[in-house]
Amino acid sequence: MGTVEQVDVVVVGGGPGGSTTATLLAKSGHRVVQLERESFPRYQIGESLLPSTIHGVCRLLGVEDEIENAGFMKKAGGSFRWGTSPTPWNFNFAISPEFAGPTSHAYQVERMRFDEILLRHAAKTGVDVREQSAVTGVLTDETGRVTGVDYTDENGVAHRVLGRYVVDASGNKTRLTKHAGAERVYSDFFQNVALFGYFTGGKRLPAPSSGNILCAAFDEGWIWYIPLTDDLTSVGVVVAKEHAAKIQGDQEAALLRLIDRCSIVEDMLTDATRVTDGVYGEIRTRKDYSYANTKFWGNGMVLVGDAACFIDPVFSTGVHLATYSGVLAARSINSVLSGAMTEERAFGEFEGRYRREYAVFYEFLSSFYDMEQSEDSYFWRARKVTGAPTADLEAFVSLVAGGFSKEAALTDAAAVVERFTASSQALTEAAAKTGGMDTDAGHRMNHLFKTPVVREVMEEMNAMQARGVMGSAQVEPPLLDGGLVPSTNGLAWAEPDVVPVAG
Ligand code: FAD
Repeated sequence: MGTVEQVDVVVVGGGPGGSTTATLLAKSGHRVVQLERESFPRYQIGESLLPSTIHGVCRLLGVEDEIENAGFMKKAGGSFRWGTSPTPWNFNFAISPEFAGPTSHAYQVERMRFDEILLRHAAKTGVDVREQSAVTGVLTDETGRVTGVDYTDENGVAHRVLGRYVVDASGNKTRLTKHAGAERVYSDFFQNVALFGYFTGGKRLPAPSSGNILCAAFDEGWIWYIPLTDDLTSVGVVVAKEHAAKIQGDQEAALLRLIDRCSIVEDMLTDATRVTDGVYGEIRTRKDYSYANTKFWGNGMVLVGDAACFIDPVFSTGVHLATYSGVLAARSINSVLSGAMTEERAFGEFEGRYRREYAVFYEFLSSFYDMEQSEDSYFWRARKVTGAPTADLEAFVSLVAGGFSKEAALTDAAAVVERFTASSQALTEAAAKTGGMDTDAGHRMNHLFKTPVVREVMEEMNAMQARGVMGSAQVEPPLLDGGLVPSTNGLAWAEPDVVPVAG
């Protein structure tokens, strides 16, 4: 055994979930060790982001300027060939009231670069970041409470680090969650397989949608087309698990064959060449990625990001849920370590808010799948949900922009207005002129708003709109019945009658 040391919190995983949690703990003065198995930059899928991550979480972390200056592809919204009409339609973040103005965009990111920026920022903030450090075991005391982890460093030497909390942010292949008393439950509805690769020379949608993600449904599933740079495009096919055989064997042939079945993407790639070397040269597959754990915390361990849950690639909610849960986890740990409240109170808030966000997006994404009307296709027929329509375009955009949480920290555009340049203002104005979504598409969106939970979100969106206009010096009521509110600096929780003002 090499070193044995004691810190406040051990964070396992250097992805966006881990770096968000670790940074916000260090900002509160805690001693944090963050262990990452790989050496960064490392490859990861999940390249299309939502505005709440960029303008909400990254601002709270203090890394938004660096992200803004990194030259990522600006994403004004999404373009879809989805639903009853063969014509593609757009939505723009700009029409969502709380993301209006200079914060009405997100980015398409090469995760190697994005994740490295967040990890290096964590280190700059005071986190003791250790790469090539793979956690091999979890330590517990006689009551089953987690007390730390064992890991091996780049030389294969074993070390032990003890902490009052261990945060599992080690992604979807985690082996640690059972120590929190959690069990993974796979979705009955989302049972798909993804096959993806990279192309150069693919076409771009016309401005102002040229940075949009394009999602195109076809008989066997759907395809994402994400412009990562002017030249590089990420292309992924999602098909039913039952049809996984279609993507086995020669994966390049399978990817190209499926792309050929989807005319809009086939056309975008007419003059494109598949990247065949370097990190983007590999064709990759992912399966069994839609699940949630029965518990998100327990026995001194907290689950964040994919270690806790993931829904589906459509609508880019993965990094949002990872970074949002990182904010919630850090607030709860900070609140307990400072002695401000009990573990049950602080982590009840963490789990309540996290599950709520997950549930609403889960319901929404199911409804979105239900919107594709290809009755004669196995993939889409098997994914019908059913229900009666109702509509609210703004609420829809708010929801997919990651604003459901209603947190001022994630949605307060006013505070960052001056940080953005004239060019982003121009983009927003141009996007606004397109109307966000055409009228025909608006009708098609009606299919989405059929469940009570989505209706409830719409009502809450109206309340958030009012708060967004008035800025962060607002009383932020508890999100959950009898719940807590963020502290004034956003790094912890407070009882609503003690610190009622968020910001
Ligand atoms: P990760 O990013 O997976 O980071 C976990 C880290 O932990 C890794 O760096 C890993 O090396 C490290 N680690 C693992 N085990 C150990 C160990 N034992 N010791 C130390 N370190 C360890 N999301 C989006 O927002 N937009 C998208 O467009 C999108 N597309 C997707 C497409 C597909 C097909 C899939 C499956 C997912 C997609 N996602 C998308 C989801 C996204 O990939 C994840 O939600 C996101 O990466 C989760 O971040 P994380 O920090 O929880 O975990």
